[in-house]
Amino acid sequence: MKVIRNKTRVVNIGGVKIGGNNPIAVQSMTKTDTADVQATVAQIKRLEKLGCEIIRVGVPDMSAALGLSKIRKQIRIPLVADIHFQWQLAVAAINQGVDKIRINPGNMAKDNLAIVLDKAKARKIPIRLGVNSGSLKSLPQNRYEDKAAVMVRALAEYIRIFENADFRNIVLSLKATDVPTTIKAYQLAAQKFAYPWHLGITESGVAEVGIVKSSVGIGALLAGGIGDTIRVSLSSEPEEEVRVGYAILQSLNLRNYYPELISCPTCSRAQIDIISLAEQVHKEIKDHPRAQWRLPLKIAIMGCVVNGPGEAKEADFGLAGGKREGLFFRQGKIIKKIPEKEFFRVIKKELAPWRR
Ligand code: SF4
Repeated sequence: MKVIRNKTRVVNIGGVKIGGNNPIAVQSMTKTDTADVQATVAQIKRLEKLGCEIIRVGVPDMSAALGLSKIRKQIRIPLVADIHFQWQLAVAAINQGVDKIRINPGNMAKDNLAIVLDKAKARKIPIRLGVNSGSLKSLPQNRYEDKAAVMVRALAEYIRIFENADFRNIVLSLKATDVPTTIKAYQLAAQKFAYPWHLGITESGVAEVGIVKSSVGIGALLAGGIGDTIRVSLSSEPEEEVRVGYAILQSLNLRNYYPELISCPTCSRAQIDIISLAEQVHKEIKDHPRAQWRLPLKIAIMGCVVNGPGEAKEADFGLAGGKREGLFFRQGKIIKKIPEKEFFRVIKKELAPWRR
């Protein structure tokens, strides 16, 4: 099944286009002190290797803002400055050559916001208008209005200010920590505005919890056709955010980034150790993104004859386990029977020609 995406305007972020029919971009945010240029660049380079397509950095003060051009010069992907409260930082970031800024207009005075919009317009860079549930100023207008509606109302107000200033180079987001509120807010707003959507569940927690919340929230919106770029926010390494982002997109057939590994959960019928083998193969593919594989590539590791031969046959290659041995399939044909201790070696060898 193919997801039908909502039609949104195209916005160019330093050469990466989002919205319209462009691929849904995966982004992350650095967790270093932005003023520490060396550490920040090193982290961004690690993320670039994993396929991060847009990177955002926090700009809490002028020393962070004044290091942005040095960071920009040393990285390949677009740089986004995340700014709150101080319009001077937004202006400094734009002067430093960033590719986009993210602001929460609710915490900037209107006159100062006008200066920022003029600057961004002159440099032709987009602004993400990000409303977060935690920084809402207005309250429900009546007892029937919920938080999602309040978020959409705040967003609509900011969009009106931007449009009145003839500024339409906009990306939108409406993040809440609560998944149903986030989903509802985006769904309501997507009916009203055709600007591209940045999706995320804000402050979603440690990896184990945050991955589930992000997958459910971002996944539900994407499945409904909403979303042009995603950021998985985790209290974890940013590398994990990028991997999970691609996994969400791949699970909905929206991007094809990694070889697909089908492995059964194993049960009492299995007479081979599926879990260790699947983990070994997963480790082999997880740090090697799209650029390093000929895709699509599907690998199946199955425990027994119940579903094994069927899945293995549909894969480019795979294994269907038997008693301490397994049938090795390639392109739907049984190639050979191999002993369990040979499984990983055979799969690793089979993976080699699929690497670029
Ligand atoms: S493929 Fe076989 S071993 Fe694996 S879960 Fe299914 S029945 Fe169990």
